[in-house]
Amino acid sequence: MSRFCSTLTKPFHSDHCCRLASLVDTCKSIQQIKQTHAQLVTTALISHHVSANKFLKLVADASLSYAHKLFDQIPQPDLFIYNTMIKAHSLSPSSCNDSLMVFRLLTRDSGLSPNRYSFVFTFGACGNGLSVQEGEQVRSHAVKVGLDSNVFVVNALIGMYGKWGLVEYGRKVFEWAVDKDLYSWNTMIAAYVGSGNMSQAKELFDEMQEQDVVSWSTIIAGYVQVGCFMEALDFFHRMLQVGPKPNEYTLVSALAACSNLVALDQGKWIHSFIGRGEIKMNERLLASIIDMYAKCGEIESASRVFWEHNAKRKVWPWNAMIGGFAMHGKPSEAIKVFQKMKVENVSPNKVTFVALLNACSHGYMVEEGKLYFRLMVSDYGIIPEIEHYGCMVDLLSRAGLLKEAEDMISSMPMAPDVAIWGAVLNACRIYKDMERGYRIGRIIKEMDPNHVGCHVLLGNIYSSSGRWNDARMLREKSEISTATKKIPGCSSIELNGTFYQFLVGDRSHPQSRELYSFLDEMTTKLKIAGYVPVFGELLLDIDDEEDKETALSVHSEKLAIAFGLLNTAPGTPIRIVKNLRVCRDCHQVTKFISKVYDRVIIVRDRTRYHHFKDGICSCKDYW
Ligand code: ZN
Ligand code: ZN
Repeated sequence: MSRFCSTLTKPFHSDHCCRLASLVDTCKSIQQIKQTHAQLVTTALISHHVSANKFLKLVADASLSYAHKLFDQIPQPDLFIYNTMIKAHSLSPSSCNDSLMVFRLLTRDSGLSPNRYSFVFTFGACGNGLSVQEGEQVRSHAVKVGLDSNVFVVNALIGMYGKWGLVEYGRKVFEWAVDKDLYSWNTMIAAYVGSGNMSQAKELFDEMQEQDVVSWSTIIAGYVQVGCFMEALDFFHRMLQVGPKPNEYTLVSALAACSNLVALDQGKWIHSFIGRGEIKMNERLLASIIDMYAKCGEIESASRVFWEHNAKRKVWPWNAMIGGFAMHGKPSEAIKVFQKMKVENVSPNKVTFVALLNACSHGYMVEEGKLYFRLMVSDYGIIPEIEHYGCMVDLLSRAGLLKEAEDMISSMPMAPDVAIWGAVLNACRIYKDMERGYRIGRIIKEMDPNHVGCHVLLGNIYSSSGRWNDARMLREKSEISTATKKIPGCSSIELNGTFYQFLVGDRSHPQSRELYSFLDEMTTKLKIAGYVPVFGELLLDIDDEEDKETALSVHSEKLAIAFGLLNTAPGTPIRIVKNLRVCRDCHQVTKFISKVYDRVIIVRDRTRYHHFKDGICSCKDYW
């Protein structure tokens, strides 16, 4: 990097400085920044460190490359200016190399000595995309100048190792540190959370003398991240009882847990907690609330919250709303929201298009989907990623355009993943395209020999077309029975803030005698209404028809729904979460229950949300 040293030594007046400070404050665009820059140079104020640093910070926010040019023009920058440059470049992986270059300029050429901030920012850059070797070099420099035991530097080091996934290295720094503060503990916990090691994170959390809102939020976010939503909510409740007041981040995680557990009561409670003014509503929280209502099956509430909130400048609430309508099979509403976005000058991002394409897909709107896929590139300059291709393949597959779906896969610039092939395979099952299904099943098996979902689908293709022998052979050959037996079906339902879990054929519940006789009564009622059990896709080992029916009737979601019917007032919606895909028969039964018992039933299974009402499901029987 070249250094341009000016010899401007005009006398410096403080009123100049004030004038410049106010000038810097009014800079709004790159154009104004350039004008101010010119003034700085002509008045020689660029050599005044306070104003130069202030200006540099402003420029760095607007354009890093411009900041770099400016930096090169500042004669003998002081330590603050160096640190500003290191920090500005440290935040993104594409520029963090420049942080290290500025750090090297500082330590080799400037004649200045780095302070703790220089190290904190440089370690930040290292963790964001530099090599372990480079990080270690900076660390040995910290040792040389005696700053390695400074608590700020220690925390930055722990964070750096955490970002690299070298959590145990971070732990060593943590253990050896003489000086530790709350931030050190929180950084160490965050490092464990980042690596998915929740047991260590929790152990450390429990060892803390006093946990602050960051400690609590990190643990709750960690449980959400690894899919332990009940634990996340348990922690959230503990926090409300004994911990500090939750902040925005805590609530975003807690709402995500509610969404995943379809825990509407608790989600509503958080919404009212925000409404009471305990925490200021912002657009990120708004997006989480919309998402929660949508996923709990309350799309009207989601939409009301969305439209009631004025001045939505950020993209998040828009994405949540489009995603919500997509999930509920309301593509035209999703498109309306997208068009409104344009009117309000909110730029869509890649997530917006995933949601929009999903909406088209769930609504069988092939032409619209193709149009938005094109517009995304031509009008918004967004390069399609694997998720977008996935949506398109799903869209075409759903519409039964299986050949086109396969063509789309071969046109992808990246390698297709198992999920994309899985979408086509699923369509082969639905459209009974056995030959194609078999061929694609083999492709998936080659990519992932233990892919349970694929085996199940392939097995279902065989059994639903009556090829029981092939299905049985597949089961034996691929050890499907052991693979699927590892994950027993489990459904849960929330009643008054408590979760009740049911396994297949579960009789452990105190109410189970009542529950099973209710199930019998229910099945009779449904049969009168026209329900016929669907055996197609399971239990190949059972030959006797009656046994098959019994096995079907005790699927975990049926138990959970019956439990919900027994324990809630007529008309109350029932919300169920299932860990596996809902089977054909349970889907059919739930449609009948929604009509016969006049209940809205929301089932979130492993792949999507089903919203049953008046005998119809929002998935239109495609899942
Ligand atoms: Zn079932
Ligand atoms: Zn459905």
